[in-house]
Amino acid sequence: MKTAGLASGSKGNAYIVEAQGTALLIDCGISHRRLASRIKAAGFDEGAIAGVLLTHEHTDHASGLGDFRKRHPDTPFFANALTADAIGALCPDAGGFCIFENAQEFELGPFSILPFAISHDVADPVGYLVRAEGKTYFHATDLGAPLESVGRLLAQADAATLESNHEPTLVMASSRPESLKRRILGPLGHLSNDQCAALVAKYASPKLKRLSLAHLSEQCNEPHLAERAVRAALAKHPGVQLEILSQSMPGKTWEV
Ligand SMILES: [Zn+2]
Ligand SMILES: [Zn+2]
Repeated sequence: MKTAGLASGSKGNAYIVEAQGTALLIDCGISHRRLASRIKAAGFDEGAIAGVLLTHEHTDHASGLGDFRKRHPDTPFFANALTADAIGALCPDAGGFCIFENAQEFELGPFSILPFAISHDVADPVGYLVRAEGKTYFHATDLGAPLESVGRLLAQADAATLESNHEPTLVMASSRPESLKRRILGPLGHLSNDQCAALVAKYASPKLKRLSLAHLSEQCNEPHLAERAVRAALAKHPGVQLEILSQSMPGKTWEV
């Protein structure tokens, strides 16, 4: 299995996983032009995408769906019912969805996919555990609370993408409205560097080989702050390769 973060942050998200010549896109919040060039730059084949998994309806995760649907009319989109309804209302040209139930694993090509509930201020947000070829990839962004149920799934991962959104002192010092600060810092907002690090410290297992930090705030975080917090959390697992995903370019392509 191989994976890459194609775009990560509040201006647009897309992540790709491939096994045995079949690929999955997780979220589609960038234009098709950008998506196509990043898929190619990361060494994946857009024609191999057998499905698009949606985490939630925020535009930075779903705004590219209509564009993608025009170019790939037969590629199914997957979401739970509340997320599909919310995306349908916001983005009518996204078209229909294959509906899954949270916590019920389903198969697509070589993949077993487990959507799991996370905490965020939308209808029914999820992360994903994707298994193929005996390996497990964990994916969770846009989560306000480091839930134990999420940590127990992180513990199964050979490779993971986890949000490390902000440094609380930078959020408080920013010029953002108080209501937005409360949202970001609250349990339905985003994971801070220390919350991310605490989840990693508690749940990363010796299996974990690669961790990609995702959805960093451009205004209220610094890559070196996220990296420092999570490196300290990985003290027991010095072999884990760490990367910081970015808004402006695809991350590394990892063999899992
Ligand atoms: Zn987001
Ligand atoms: Zn969101």
